[in-house]
Amino acid sequence: MLVPAMNPCPCAFYGDVKRQCRCSVRQIENYRQKISGPLLDRIDIHVEVPLVDFKELTSDAITGQSSAVIRERVAAARGIQVERLQISKTHYPPRWARAKSASAASSMPKAKAYLEHAMEQMNFSARAHDRILKVSRTLSDLAGKQNITGNEVLEAIQFRSLDRRLFE
Ligand SMILES: [Zn+2]
Repeated sequence: MLVPAMNPCPCAFYGDVKRQCRCSVRQIENYRQKISGPLLDRIDIHVEVPLVDFKELTSDAITGQSSAVIRERVAAARGIQVERLQISKTHYPPRWARAKSASAASSMPKAKAYLEHAMEQMNFSARAHDRILKVSRTLSDLAGKQNITGNEVLEAIQFRSLDRRLFE
């Protein structure tokens, strides 16, 4: 598994609520273009992580689900995926996500419409399209849903933040 990290811009404060980013749009675009499109296409999920407040970092309070609960959900989703792979007898070939999910997506007009709209509006590549479908499938497995719904597609699109233009 590949988990790379980068600053949002050269000064590192783009999107920060407390400090002002001093980079120009040009500088930010040049900085982000250092990652090649084909490499970016192969990364499934882009997540923006805000700076952690010192108080939060040193606090003992646990918020959200515990690791044990999340572990159970992940194990259940993995089980569903292993079962699905055994039926299709394939190991995630590039077309798997599209072939498997497109038939499922066609029975869900809303999910498909969201994805088509996003492809047009955000100029996603064919590879990004496959990533979005694959991540949508995983999100619906995590939610214990049989089919991909519009919600999962929208969530998966949110995870392609680096493919989007900075300012529309
Ligand atoms: Zn900056």
